[in-house]
Amino acid sequence: MTAAEEALFRLAADVAASRTGRRMPPLAADTRSQPPPSVAVARPQPPVPVPCGPAPQLEMATLATSSKGNATLVRAGSTAVLVDAGISARRLTEGLRGLGVEPASLAGIFITHEHSDHVAGLATFLKRYDVPVYANRATWEALGDIGVTYARRRIPLAAEMTVGHLRIQRFATSHDAADPSGFTFCAGRVKGAVCTDLGVVTKSVASALAGANLLVLEANHDPDMLRTGPYVGYLKQRIAGPQGHLANAQAARLLAWLYRGQALDVIWAHRSATNNDVAKVQDTVIAELAREGISPAQESIHWQHGRPDGTVRMVVADTVEESETCCERVKIESIL
Ligand SMILES: [Zn+2]
Ligand SMILES: [Zn+2]
Repeated sequence: MTAAEEALFRLAADVAASRTGRRMPPLAADTRSQPPPSVAVARPQPPVPVPCGPAPQLEMATLATSSKGNATLVRAGSTAVLVDAGISARRLTEGLRGLGVEPASLAGIFITHEHSDHVAGLATFLKRYDVPVYANRATWEALGDIGVTYARRRIPLAAEMTVGHLRIQRFATSHDAADPSGFTFCAGRVKGAVCTDLGVVTKSVASALAGANLLVLEANHDPDMLRTGPYVGYLKQRIAGPQGHLANAQAARLLAWLYRGQALDVIWAHRSATNNDVAKVQDTVIAELAREGISPAQESIHWQHGRPDGTVRMVVADTVEESETCCERVKIESIL
């Protein structure tokens, strides 16, 4: 990171601290090597006015989440979007209707990246429902036939977009895909994020998530289970590598870093059925939070464990005192 980027990060942390009255501790150092640095550095931009709409609450629901298939509904007011479509079109349709969302009414599908556990149901779903798809160009090209067939549906991702009641920001993640993304969603004064499929928590990821109230956050594997498990060597290396997936402790440290006393609800996502289990996630998160002096039982922090085969839903109401800070982006992008 350059000196300018360091200064920018410190400034962002100071701004956040001044808003919350609680100083951010330094982000725990990643235990793995960082991906190669990029020369591209975004310049700080003035804050964009926040269209704080009438949405009373922000809802996130994983229709399914695991290493085998991922799809998340994000809804505020009358606006509903899907993040990824990695389960069959039938399961997507049933899951959406189970939450009272007619599939054709979706304002968009946001694609994080082209891996099959995120797009397996996309082509069939698009045959049935004329829904716009938000994806960046490299991801769209990597989708191959789907990208060609449904090119007219594509809406290029911008750093910031407004779709109905949702203000959406894209951030880059470190993963072995063409141009992988995570997303934050602001509705009124509440901020949510979908952040899975990343090998390391970079400062740009952390800054994008700062101030969040509702997270769909990856807790993919337990390193010991991965190391002693049945996967072949190259796959173990890939998963544990800087462009792989988040281990439980990495996710827990990020949560501890993000928590500033605000209402913060989490759905633990993208859990490996082979290299992880609910108890490992639970124990690791509690231990890492305790290390920072945070006891979930006494704080406004709650979580559920995402399911590979069913819906898990969390809602945060717009009663958060941290208010207008939610949608202001901490501008330290492109550190990757
Ligand atoms: Zn992936
Ligand atoms: Zn995945």
